[in-house]
Amino acid sequence: MTVALVLVSHSAALARGVAELAGQMAPSVTILAAGGGDDGGLGTSFDLISDALQRADNPDGTVVLYDLGSAVLTTETAVEFLDPQHADRITVVDAPLVEGTIAGAVTAEGSGDRAAVAASARSAIGSFGAPPSGGAAAEQVAAGDTGAGETGAPSGGTGAHQDDADIPAGIPDSADVEVVNPLGLHARPAAELARSLAGTSATVRIGRPGGPAVDLRSVLGVVGLAVRGGDDVRINVWGPDAILVLGRLVKLIRGGFGEIAHHHRAAAVVTRPEPSARMVDGMVTATAGSPGRAIGPLARLDALPETLPATADPAPRTGRDRDVEEHRLDSAIAAAAKTLAGQGEFGQAHAALVADPKLRALTEQKLERGAPAAWWDTVVQISRELEASDDELIASRGIDLREAGIAVLGELGVHLDRIPDDVRGAVVLAGELGPAEIPELVGRGAVAAVLATGSTTAHAVIVARGLGLPMVIRSGDVLRSVATGTTLVVDGDTGTVLVDPPREQRDQIIASIVEQAAVAERLRGEARRPVVLAGGRQVLVAANVGSVADAIAAVDNGADGIGLLRTELLVLDRDEYPDEDVQTANLVEILHPMGDRPVVIRALDVGGDKPLATLDVDARRNGFLGVRGLRFLLENPEILRTQLRAICRASFGHHVSVMAPMVTVPHEAKQWREAVASAVDSLRADRLEFAVPEQVGIMVEVPAAALAADGFAGLVDFFSVGSNDLTSYTMAADRTEPGVADLLDPGSIAIRRLLEQLCAAAAAARIPVAVCGEMAGMDAFAVDLVRLGVGELSMAPARIPQIKALLRETLGGPAGVAAGEATDAEE
Ligand code: PEP
Ligand code: MG
Repeated sequence: MTVALVLVSHSAALARGVAELAGQMAPSVTILAAGGGDDGGLGTSFDLISDALQRADNPDGTVVLYDLGSAVLTTETAVEFLDPQHADRITVVDAPLVEGTIAGAVTAEGSGDRAAVAASARSAIGSFGAPPSGGAAAEQVAAGDTGAGETGAPSGGTGAHQDDADIPAGIPDSADVEVVNPLGLHARPAAELARSLAGTSATVRIGRPGGPAVDLRSVLGVVGLAVRGGDDVRINVWGPDAILVLGRLVKLIRGGFGEIAHHHRAAAVVTRPEPSARMVDGMVTATAGSPGRAIGPLARLDALPETLPATADPAPRTGRDRDVEEHRLDSAIAAAAKTLAGQGEFGQAHAALVADPKLRALTEQKLERGAPAAWWDTVVQISRELEASDDELIASRGIDLREAGIAVLGELGVHLDRIPDDVRGAVVLAGELGPAEIPELVGRGAVAAVLATGSTTAHAVIVARGLGLPMVIRSGDVLRSVATGTTLVVDGDTGTVLVDPPREQRDQIIASIVEQAAVAERLRGEARRPVVLAGGRQVLVAANVGSVADAIAAVDNGADGIGLLRTELLVLDRDEYPDEDVQTANLVEILHPMGDRPVVIRALDVGGDKPLATLDVDARRNGFLGVRGLRFLLENPEILRTQLRAICRASFGHHVSVMAPMVTVPHEAKQWREAVASAVDSLRADRLEFAVPEQVGIMVEVPAAALAADGFAGLVDFFSVGSNDLTSYTMAADRTEPGVADLLDPGSIAIRRLLEQLCAAAAAARIPVAVCGEMAGMDAFAVDLVRLGVGELSMAPARIPQIKALLRETLGGPAGVAAGEATDAEE
């Protein structure tokens, strides 16, 4: 929940327009327009304002902005008529309507409280028009005023950061960084920077090196600096987490905000190699994109159209007026951005692209052609500019922009789909592909893809790797004259395409592809059977999952169950933290394909490398060594209780156990168990349908827990070793830092001793041990872990067939070399 905004204006159109504009920069903030009189004409309306205040009401409160003086009278009357508690949650602020709304909305989006939102709305006065070189005006942007004209009780908070007087004493952490996106720190990047400060109390100022600086939380102050692509900025940060904040900001600026740079330092350029594919004796040598081999007839994909014919627009063309088209465009951009933002990492990048004000501004100039044609024209124009870049990263964003642009067209009723309904068995040749087209191709039966352009960093190529679609890129135009339907053999490992091989060679290739596929299929088929060791003990080979797709892949690959359901993955890219019903529904979807198989659901593992935007997670306080995992949950009992209730409700009809992440000492395990019992009691009292968790376990990820495992006897039903974190904490090596990657070796003697000690203590206390870190799915460790007495290995679904085969071969059956040892370990 964020602070809401209500805009009171004498004009309905003005209030609506401002709400729409601010909504683009603060998509999760409720901004309600209450403009115009009762009859829809100019004036203000007591009823409209009262209604908006009712609809906006929420525990964080509402800030009201208004245009002309008399609007405040109607507003204050409406507030007086509310019940006193509701009135106390409202702040009416004297601020410029447009600038104040934008500044306030962005602060609300960054979780600023009501006082902070009001303060930043007020401080927006005079923000625009600051000279490009900064100067005194830039400092005034940050200064704000003292808040005349406010009613209601401010709740204190971070509003004071707007004041120069708040620049702390002491030397800040500082960095100079080049702004790489061409439009520089315009509103959206400025908003993104301000939002990134949510959860930190650091004071941050930004300006040109040696020039005046403004508070980074003041979006309009930043915009007023008029920083453009290619300019350097200096960031100064004060506060306990200054280094982390600085790192985050530098990364954001260097990343170009999902926008695209023409300007860049030479060193940062990943020069785009010209497609240098050659065809010799029917063999095209190009670039490997996504591994795997496939054979099939060539099917061509049309290029996306450069212009849209007028007939493509479903809206009636007669009487088209600019306002209508503008409204259509804005609604379509907002709707597409919202949908895309919910579609994972690439979707979010696309959402930022379509919301870029430059696209809208360019489109606006052509609106007489109708919103769809004008929009597509702009998208094609900017995509071409991007594609002309020498920088491979920038060039590959061209197709992303086209694909993102298609989403807006879809909202306008124009659907561009160039993939034929049936490409079953075909090798698809295209100039380029967008990431969303890859799942479509796979779904419609394509066996491989060849791109004329593309780069190994293109989003489509990454998606193809994830979905196992073999792909060769940068084939240039060497396949141009090859007839549709010609047989192609694609090798995504070597980056080669064999054109129309002679029958004998074709037969050999088909035979070897078929054999490879058959081996994989055989392993997958065998994986459906359990792995039983020579001594008769079954080793469970389970899957690590974080989505419905993972659960389906788990079943397809023969998983005996789920050994680790990472619930934080279900909430990572949400705009709002889901309530109990939503969590229950999400889990039901994942449990459904699992049927009777046992499933271990891990409670939310938040903190460390998993910050949750929707929860108040601080990089330092909740870092790897801070309040992470179960520590966070015990500090936030309502979050834990809600999740446990959702897990129990979803478990009805399944075999579900629960485990806690990042447990260090037995006392925590006791509290964890009590939390489970209390959630069960509450469900009983509510007479809801649910199932009691079959087992209550903990993860062993902290060396202290492994070394003193005997202390957990009687408190837990199982241990599951999180070897990723256990290795990291044991070796004092951050798992996200490439500089210490060589220390993160689960095969090190230190980890070995910890595991031996853990397994011995667990065997003595008759507590079963599972391993769900990466090492469980690695050929080098799986067998040894089972020899140590581990009863369950949980891993990425795709690893299951191979690991099952390896365990059977090594430890199963009468001929198993280590059968005796495995049996011993079990005793
Ligand atoms: C681990 O730490 O090994 C583990 C499985 O948990 P995660 O990777 O989710 O932190
Ligand atoms: Mg872990």
